[in-house]
Amino acid sequence: SGSMVCVGVGMTLGSHICPLSRSHIEQADVVFCSMSDQYVEEWVMSMNSDVRSLQPLYSEGKDRRQTYREMVELMMAEVRQGKKVVGAFYGHPGVFALVPHKVIKQAREEGFAGHMEPGVSAEDCLYADMGLDPGSHGCAHYEASQFLMNEKCFDTTALLVLWQIGMVGDRQHKKFIADGRYRKVLQDCLLDYYPADHQVALYEAAVLPVERVRIEWMRIDQLFEANVYQHSTLVVPPAKKKSPDQKIAQLMKEIDQELS
Ligand code: SAH
Repeated sequence: SGSMVCVGVGMTLGSHICPLSRSHIEQADVVFCSMSDQYVEEWVMSMNSDVRSLQPLYSEGKDRRQTYREMVELMMAEVRQGKKVVGAFYGHPGVFALVPHKVIKQAREEGFAGHMEPGVSAEDCLYADMGLDPGSHGCAHYEASQFLMNEKCFDTTALLVLWQIGMVGDRQHKKFIADGRYRKVLQDCLLDYYPADHQVALYEAAVLPVERVRIEWMRIDQLFEANVYQHSTLVVPPAKKKSPDQKIAQLMKEIDQELS
């Protein structure tokens, strides 16, 4: 009977895929793939004789939510026919990605086996390439539009990472890159929390082994003028020092006294 497994192939072609994910791709009856790049797609196609790209379902002007529904349906149709289906996605299939979560949930609801294997995400590459540790100050990740559109309660003493900065402000879900004026709104919003000269970085991990990583530092008030792409991630380091929680410090002291 049919099954659905979602795997990640990592960010950089050839080097990040884990043996387990590769074996799922090789053993599948049919593989559906959604990759960041044509070469990456061709590489995945070399691992199984029936690899089908989900990429043609995207198109400018089409609501991405519709695209996602179609992707889930396309994969589920094969699962229902009793096939071993694999969805291969770039990065980690469960990180800032809707379709892998949805299709696994759908498969399980219909009584099929479904699970996910982790992969190396843009987040993992970011820590390695930029020498940042999420444990140093704490770290929060948001989808940029979600961050912008909702009431903010975040921590400027921690690292802030905004995903899909290229699409910030796009509420129609129809564009690949949003109008820059929306990014100006984000910039102004960030200026309510950070000093204008605070250094932030646009980060792009290398996808092809021959490519170089992009780590472009700039003042936060230059964000509006910077070049952003679909695969750019915004990194905002902490701006404030942490201050101790006095109430907790007092409670700790009381326990220490009891203990001594
Ligand atoms: N599942 C993917 C992320 C998909 S969401 C993963 O595990 O990484 C798409 C967003 O991921 C982009 O808007 C960007 O914020 C980030 N991203 C994708 N490719 C990237 C790259 N090469 N470098 C840095 N960030 C990237």
